[in-house]
Amino acid sequence: MKFGGTSMAGTERIRRVARIVKRQQDAGHEVAVVVSAMAGETDRLVNFCREANPLYDPAEYDVVVASGEQVTSGLLAIALQALGANARSWLGWQLPIRTVEAHAKARIDSIDADALIAEMQKGVIAVIPGFQGVSEAGRVTTLGRGGSDTSAVAVAAAVKADRCDIYTDVDGVYTTDPRIVAKARKLANVTYEEMLELASVGAKVLQTRSVGLAMKEGVRVQVLSSFIDDDAPAADTIPGTMIVSDEELEGMDMERQLITGIAHDKNEAKITLTRVPDKPGAVANIFGPLAEAAINVDMIIQNVGRDKGETDVTFTVPAADLARSMDLLEQAKESIGFNRIIPDTNVAKISVVGVGMKSHAGVASTMFKALADRGVNIQAISTSEIKVSVLIEEDYTELAVRVLHTAYGLDAVEA
Ligand code: ADP
Ligand code: ASP
Ligand code: MG
Repeated sequence: MKFGGTSMAGTERIRRVARIVKRQQDAGHEVAVVVSAMAGETDRLVNFCREANPLYDPAEYDVVVASGEQVTSGLLAIALQALGANARSWLGWQLPIRTVEAHAKARIDSIDADALIAEMQKGVIAVIPGFQGVSEAGRVTTLGRGGSDTSAVAVAAAVKADRCDIYTDVDGVYTTDPRIVAKARKLANVTYEEMLELASVGAKVLQTRSVGLAMKEGVRVQVLSSFIDDDAPAADTIPGTMIVSDEELEGMDMERQLITGIAHDKNEAKITLTRVPDKPGAVANIFGPLAEAAINVDMIIQNVGRDKGETDVTFTVPAADLARSMDLLEQAKESIGFNRIIPDTNVAKISVVGVGMKSHAGVASTMFKALADRGVNIQAISTSEIKVSVLIEEDYTELAVRVLHTAYGLDAVEA
């Protein structure tokens, strides 16, 4: 069972979480719980690091930001004990959850679950702080923002859990962010592949890596709400959203829509390089330095060559990497040979996702037409087998998501 930041925000809510956990144990399950820091706490800790020194040491940043989850894991163990349960916490380094050395964005290597399994079999409820681990050098690491989802899936895989229930502040995965579109519909099932794609294009209800890991390890993941009454049925019967394989889905959902969901991402920035020489090697010169700096380039357009054998190249990078990207490109100006560099942070990426796209034509054109009808200009396009993304002006984000939600017939029918 994993509980996110909003679910853990304050002792009152932690006591409710304890009751939900205890009920699962009372129903006969062995449980391990992974918790997030209280909502807002990680942001607060990150700010402390920035204030202390904008060029902070990532290893010490990890020591600071991992503390949020240490607090909530201890508090949940206390709250469980108050209900008469036998509970204890295991910090990342105690279990241990071994990760690679990459601070602030570590990946889990392995989890030693023997002690955990032995204690769980004795009826102990294990409480594990999400987001944190320990490196080979014995230092505290963290997994990147939203990483508690990944901790939960990794623990579930390590103890060979029947299920990994992700409790959050919405009661499942919706066709789009229910906080933006009131008519969003809850999905009973979504495939790993679709969830992976949705998460990676901005549906932050699950961290992308947690979905990838669940897919690889075959962990059954369910998303459900922690804001439930004390007399609500146990998790086995609550209808959240189940992440399923393609094969499972085929047998379940005959009436499936072509598009599963729509996501948006405001954390991208656009860069245009003007008058780049239109010759072999030019694009390699641009993206080489960015790749070396581990900057993830997403959408790319190379315009048709103009006269004099020149062309404009436009692409997107994470907004957080914009300054560094500009710097690297300026340094490589000579070898790339561009004229001007034009940054733009006033953009958002809107994506429609669905496995149905594999076998149906016209998905992209529906998108382009719906946006054109509302006067929304498209600045860049990218596609995969099950996704179409467009880059638009940020101010139109909410409008675009709502219009597309209607255009693909996803709106919930009013009761
Ligand atoms: P937690 O703290 O529990 O990890 P998050 O804030 O990380 O919670 O994720 C839950 C949030 O994800 C919801 O409050 C919702 O606004 C957002 N969200 C974005 N896209 C979706 C979607 N398609 N379905 C459900 N929630 C979504
Ligand atoms: N507390 C961490 C964060 O805010 C991890 C998580 O909540 O998943 O990013
Ligand atoms: Mg989260």
